[in-house]
Amino acid sequence: MIFNIEQIRADFPILHQQIYKKPLVYFDNAASTQKPRQVIDAIRQYYEHDNCNIHRGVHYLSVKATEAYEEARKEIRQFINARNTHEIIFTKGATESLNLVASSFGKRYIADGDEVITTIMEHHSNFVPWQQMCLERKARLRIVGIDDQGELNLQELKNMVNEKTRLITLTHVSNVLGTINPVKEIIEYAHLHNIPVLLDGAQGVSHIPVDMQELDCDFYCFSGHKMYAPMGTGVLYGKEKYLEELPPYQLGGEMIKDVYLDHTTFNELPFKFEAGTPNVEGVMGLRAAVAYLTALGMSNIAACEDDLLKYATEKLSGIEGMKFFGTSPQKASVISFLIGDIHPYDAGMIIDKMGIAVRTGHHCAQPLIEFLGIPGTVRASFSFYNTFEEIDRLAEAILKVKQMFA
Ligand code: PMP
Repeated sequence: MIFNIEQIRADFPILHQQIYKKPLVYFDNAASTQKPRQVIDAIRQYYEHDNCNIHRGVHYLSVKATEAYEEARKEIRQFINARNTHEIIFTKGATESLNLVASSFGKRYIADGDEVITTIMEHHSNFVPWQQMCLERKARLRIVGIDDQGELNLQELKNMVNEKTRLITLTHVSNVLGTINPVKEIIEYAHLHNIPVLLDGAQGVSHIPVDMQELDCDFYCFSGHKMYAPMGTGVLYGKEKYLEELPPYQLGGEMIKDVYLDHTTFNELPFKFEAGTPNVEGVMGLRAAVAYLTALGMSNIAACEDDLLKYATEKLSGIEGMKFFGTSPQKASVISFLIGDIHPYDAGMIIDKMGIAVRTGHHCAQPLIEFLGIPGTVRASFSFYNTFEEIDRLAEAILKVKQMFA
């Protein structure tokens, strides 16, 4: 173990409780991570000392809150190594970031007959906005498939690229299969053809180090609540050249420069995309989460979670009748499985009664689940605060499920 696990777990108050008279095991981290005391304290500190609407006031509290909010933007730029601070747009989550790009990019760049490439492994948040935008604009959404290990068919993707392709949009890491996609190779190939690439980083940014300048992606989206920060926070990173060109997504206060009776001029980046009063409290928490992750080190986190993934894969593979979905060697700490023919909901309910939180169902990826021809999966997703002993308890719970259905 890279970290002092007791010390880390002491930072997460919610983990120290009994569920059904058993110590809670939280393996639903891909849905949302728990929050360290440092994040909770940052929110309390904000409301007890600094709360005020930002960007609009000349008085002390307003200036203080504005400065803290803009400091947070700088720290997030640094965390993902974006080139410019104004390329960081605060949103309420990955879903809003993805809708923003689909809507604004669609209006600006997509016309009748154009094509957008995505993949079968997308979360609905990076699928439905593009599907609907393509329907509205009479464009074609092309969908890249996967192989038996849950890896993208790269050649198929490359073959799809043509002079009508306007964008490639795909997940960095699959929330169901755990696959870490070869995004660098895809981006390089796309750029050879002058095609921009959007990455849905909702499952990427909390598990592996990400570097916008190294990846050279054109857009990157993520949610705060999956990276130990509050719900209702998120980020859209976009390259300046695209953000400058895109029309605003929402209209109202803060995103304007001047409003006349018959027309309006828009604010500069990033404010053009931040209409209305933002979630300042949440961004204070996001800032604290980024500081927490930075102190641990994203490479250490990736290595620690990889150890947990390897241990769990070996442990659960030893149980007869287990079927795994997503077996790529390039995987984040997510295991999707079925126990023989037992329905995932039945399995999930029994596992829950043993004090273990796993997720069951289609994980907001119906096209993928349909493609796999299964009713859904049970998904265990690990964070650096999880332990090998907790994985042992999951293995015991799976044996119990098997016993009950024998
Ligand atoms: N993309 C992926 C890959 C996800 O896992 C999720 C959340 N499960 C989302 C997008 C949407 O995130 P949010 O609900 O926080 O907007």
